[in-house]
Amino acid sequence: MTLNELVHAVGGRVITDPDDVRDFCHDEHSYVKPGRPCAVVIAESAADVQAAVRWAAEHRVPLIPRGGGTGIVGGTATTDGCLVVSLARMTAIKELSPQDELAVVEPGVINADLDRAARAHGLMYAPDPSSYETCTIGGNLATNAGGLRCVKYGVTRDSVLGLEAVLADGSLIRTGRRTVKGVTGYDLTGLLVGSEGTLGIITSATLRLRPAPKHPPVTVAAEFSSLVDAAEAVWAIVRASVGPSLLELMDRATLEALDDWRHIGLDAKTSAMLLCQADGPDAAAAAQVMAECCTVNRAAVVAVSDDEAEAAQLLDVRRMAFTAIERMGACLIEDVCVPRSKLPEMFAAVERIAAAYDLAVPTVAHAGDGNLHPVFVFDRGLPEIPRAVWDAAEEVFRVALDLGGTLTGEHGVGTLKRHWLGAELGDATMAAQLAIKNALDPLGIMNPGKAI
Ligand SMILES: Cc1cc2nc3c(=O)[nH]c(=O)nc-3n(C[C@H](O)[C@H](O)[C@H](O)COP(=O)(O)OP(=O)(O)OC[C@H]3O[C@@H](n4cnc5c(N)ncnc54)[C@H](O)[C@@H]3O)c2cc1C
Repeated sequence: MTLNELVHAVGGRVITDPDDVRDFCHDEHSYVKPGRPCAVVIAESAADVQAAVRWAAEHRVPLIPRGGGTGIVGGTATTDGCLVVSLARMTAIKELSPQDELAVVEPGVINADLDRAARAHGLMYAPDPSSYETCTIGGNLATNAGGLRCVKYGVTRDSVLGLEAVLADGSLIRTGRRTVKGVTGYDLTGLLVGSEGTLGIITSATLRLRPAPKHPPVTVAAEFSSLVDAAEAVWAIVRASVGPSLLELMDRATLEALDDWRHIGLDAKTSAMLLCQADGPDAAAAAQVMAECCTVNRAAVVAVSDDEAEAAQLLDVRRMAFTAIERMGACLIEDVCVPRSKLPEMFAAVERIAAAYDLAVPTVAHAGDGNLHPVFVFDRGLPEIPRAVWDAAEEVFRVALDLGGTLTGEHGVGTLKRHWLGAELGDATMAAQLAIKNALDPLGIMNPGKAI
């Protein structure tokens, strides 16, 4: 096997220095022990990606695609001798069409950069993970990322029209369309979205843009002395069918972490805070209904505001939640999602499990989607995730599945959750998934050991 062939094939954009390679070995989840890659290819075009994949296929080398490295399930963790393909330099917005409300972009475009470009035309790119200033569109597609606005505008999959991807044999395929509808052939776009780099490397995407809201949003911030009451309020808001554009929940431990760091003026009696927003022409009326749902469910404080600066400040605080919690210690960030009618039961279970295992488990939720992030905090000095944390996390998974939920709402399976996949999918579905994987990646070189 000669790396010179690879260097020659991709025009020299290959890193082999062990010190430099180290920066590309893991994502935000630091408890998966990375192996040492043979090299990192800094791709600048689909042709570079094809050359890297062909070289890897010829030499049976595992390939790890990498975007912004903000994933939290070990999806970009390296193995010894693997080849990392970084898409972070492919940052062109190749087309932005206000007429057809779409954009064609390379995979390394930062999520928030695309949204800003769209806003200049009165449009927006709706999916907005909290990491939107650092994660890439390629990573968002590979994980089918969600975000704060998804309660109204859908997750990444709902904003994808078509893709270009390099398959495991180096061939370049185009999937989907640029029309509003279209059903030709199997839905390979849907298959690639959320496949975590295990079926192909995405080199371009045709994405749906939407009109940016014309009216300023109206925001409701409600404080509760009971977490389960806050969850009941979410379910009441969902039932009221007023179409919130944002519905986020933070528990007491999360608010304390934020207060320690950013001094948000947390009241001693507050156990949970709900942030709701409406952004349509009837935003004021919708916000009023949401405020009433909070009051009826025993909110201690309910504030309604149409001040955009104040709303932006509140959302910034919410987006800082993970970073604030990470100041408390090492973290295992979980991602269960349940039918929204089951939110009160799920929150109650997380509280019960945290107490039973005597663990700090601050929980923040894209509550309008039924998506909870219980964060298991433990001593930073420990060499690995302690058994008690895994046992508690497993109980959380079990409750979520029993309530008709799923192991991961948006972060993906990565290396972290493969162990539990069978419990959700069952044998026959697992076999169908493996058949797809084997058909598209017979050599098993595409991000092996991840997602399935
Ligand atoms: C502070 C913080 C907040 C977060 N908030 C959210 C949130 O609100 N919602 C949410 O969904 N996630 C969230 N995340 C998780 C993370 O940001 C998302 O999973 C994001 O989509 C990852 O994008 P990335 O570019 O960093 O991808 P990476 O971490 O580089 O990669 C993620 C996965 O995608 C694969 N991949 C990357 N690029 C490609 C490509 N071009 N082709 C094929 N496969 C590829 C990788 O192999 C890996 O399996 C958060 C993370 C942090 C640190």
